[in-house]
Amino acid sequence: MGDHDAMTTKIDIQHLSVEYHRGPERFTALSDVSLTVREGEFVCLLGPSGCGKTTLLGAIAGFERPSSGSVSVDGRPVAGPDPRHTFVFQDYGLLPWRTVERNVGLGLENRKLTRPERQLTVDRCLDLVGLAAFRNHYPDQLSGGMRQRVALARALAVDPDMLLMDEPFGALDVITRARMQDELIRIWQACGKTVIFVTHDIEEAVYLADRVVVMAPDPGRIKAVKTVDMGRGRDRTDARFLTVRDQILEIFEMKNYTEVEFYL
Ligand code: ADP
Ligand code: MG
Repeated sequence: MGDHDAMTTKIDIQHLSVEYHRGPERFTALSDVSLTVREGEFVCLLGPSGCGKTTLLGAIAGFERPSSGSVSVDGRPVAGPDPRHTFVFQDYGLLPWRTVERNVGLGLENRKLTRPERQLTVDRCLDLVGLAAFRNHYPDQLSGGMRQRVALARALAVDPDMLLMDEPFGALDVITRARMQDELIRIWQACGKTVIFVTHDIEEAVYLADRVVVMAPDPGRIKAVKTVDMGRGRDRTDARFLTVRDQILEIFEMKNYTEVEFYL
């Protein structure tokens, strides 16, 4: 914890609850969630469907308002969506009638940039994800993995300070997914952005994260936070990797627990 305190806090979530109105009823999607994320950290939100992962990401992005508690980024309460925090969605969100290049440049169109400046940024991001040769292709001419790369390039083009990724690799086959995970780690190491990555795949979380936030449903909450104290280029068959995975599995299976006890 000492190291953690010494670093700059990027995201500070304190006692956050989010309720949705369903007709006359209120539904608690998140209950008393507290979490701090330091600048440049890679955090995975892990948990079964319905445990509030997307809601938590939305609260950080400013799409969802706290019913109680607070969410701050860079020491300021989040007041609404901010273009500095880019979302990457599971379904890529590409515009089918635009070429790869014009999809990547989408977020730059409202900025005061000259054409060459914009082109330079687009080129740099296409290079970063290895798609320079496909700049004039349309999304339906690409594989799922390539579409996800376009989405990533588009997110990076606006030079966000945070990448908020909602199960971005969920629709990819196992091989492509493993390749995209490595790409993402490489890009993250190169650019040092804060990443919050949602997944319901334990191995994906253990492979990617500095810390895994284990969530549980009914109501959505944090059950434990597990530090993955391993360097990158992780080996999924390594004994330490498997130990961390099993520890997280155990956390999921625990019926009776005191939440604070399991902030490992
Ligand atoms: P996850 O991403 O972990 O699957 P969500 O954050 O999407 O979970 O949803 C958490 C809970 O809140 C779920 O029970 C879901 O049905 C509910 N929920 C999400 N969005 C809304 C909404 N707009 N209105 C009502 N209930 C919602
Ligand atoms: Mg979700």
